[in-house]
Amino acid sequence: MDITNSRKLFEEAREIIPGGVNSPVRACKSVGSAPLFIDQAQGSRIIDADGNIYIDYVGSWGPMILGHRHPEVIKLLEFTLTRGTSYGAPTVMEVRLAEMIIEAVPSMEMVRMVNSGTEAAMSAIRLARGFTGRDTIIKFDGCYHGHADSLLVEAGSGVATLGIPGSPGVPQSFVDHTLSLPYNDIEAVKSVMDKKGDKIACIIVEPVAGNMGCVPPVPGFLEALREQTQKHGSLLIFDEVMTGFRVAHGGAQALYNITPDLTCLAKIIGGGLPVGAYGGRRDIMEKIAPQGPVYQAGTLSGNPLAMAAGVATLKLLKEPGFYEALEEKAKRLAIGLQGAAVVAGIPAFFTRAGSMLGMFFTDREVKNFDDAKTSNLEMFTAYYKGMREKGIYLAPSQFEAGFVSSAHTNEDIDETVRAAAEVLKCIKDE
Ligand code: PMP
Repeated sequence: MDITNSRKLFEEAREIIPGGVNSPVRACKSVGSAPLFIDQAQGSRIIDADGNIYIDYVGSWGPMILGHRHPEVIKLLEFTLTRGTSYGAPTVMEVRLAEMIIEAVPSMEMVRMVNSGTEAAMSAIRLARGFTGRDTIIKFDGCYHGHADSLLVEAGSGVATLGIPGSPGVPQSFVDHTLSLPYNDIEAVKSVMDKKGDKIACIIVEPVAGNMGCVPPVPGFLEALREQTQKHGSLLIFDEVMTGFRVAHGGAQALYNITPDLTCLAKIIGGGLPVGAYGGRRDIMEKIAPQGPVYQAGTLSGNPLAMAAGVATLKLLKEPGFYEALEEKAKRLAIGLQGAAVVAGIPAFFTRAGSMLGMFFTDREVKNFDDAKTSNLEMFTAYYKGMREKGIYLAPSQFEAGFVSSAHTNEDIDETVRAAAEVLKCIKDE
């Protein structure tokens, strides 16, 4: 692929934007490639600044479940745009989006809109601390909950990709209040809760981890978190920024039938515009200002354009059979890739929850971050580069999930599997 324009833009960007990007993983640093600058997108395809067309499995890191530029989303956005872009005052659309969220995710009796997943998780943690009067939180190694100070401990996503142990700038005293345990380790949770349960404000978890690659929960893990938090008077926060409206209409909590106290959402509920939300039990949510004393605010929160994109998106997700059809496509892709790896003789472990997928270059079963880190990163890099050359756009990191959208056709998926078969064979032959 000729990516001359992307390279030029990256050179320019690096002079004036740290690393040339506005979010670290985009820089493609760990795979040693120049990032593609995207010019436009349509359906399952994105087009870079050199006019190259790719089948997109990043989907803006999850939000584009309908594919790019879905006509219904664009229509409502255009209508909203003609009326104004921001008022800093309530609008009907934020009430409608809140209703749609609550209808789909019944554990969210009340919901507050914010602008990103980071804000949602940060605010939910503050609320859990304010509600319980406790400071310590439990998270899990390799889970990512945005870049708020106390959540950057043993984090996934870019922190994992770049091999950063934590971050300078986070005071030790903040980190002292965060305990990070191995994902899927029920005994570790029980043991810490037995000793410190009365100090724990909350356990925050990605109910399907998506920031160390895709790692689903083992049977009993989420149940144990529910049981332990209930036993010790701590709150259970499901960070469904990635899984919400992704693995099922009601999110992972519907898929695994567990009711958390608080839930964080973002990505899909903004239909590709910047949105986050957190919500949960009414008695907890009522503690938020101005109804209660826990402060949280936002100039652009509930922005009309973002609400409109969210409303239009969620409306389409309610259509009967939507998730079944999406899952069929994701299955087709997972089975195809698995077959391609077997034929090429490449050891690989595959994971999937709904339309969220993972592929690890390891012969080990991947149940936590340590397992994920056994993936052969040189092989991943070769795979990423080979696939990109063949017009398949994947996340440039082993520690990210892949996403299938309703815009992907069976032909797209078969083309992807054919490309993977060729790339994996080349890797094996090298
Ligand atoms: N939580 C989870 C589970 C996420 O996947 C992400 C982002 N990938 C975040 C929080 C942070 O969201 P944002 O990037 O919108 O701040």
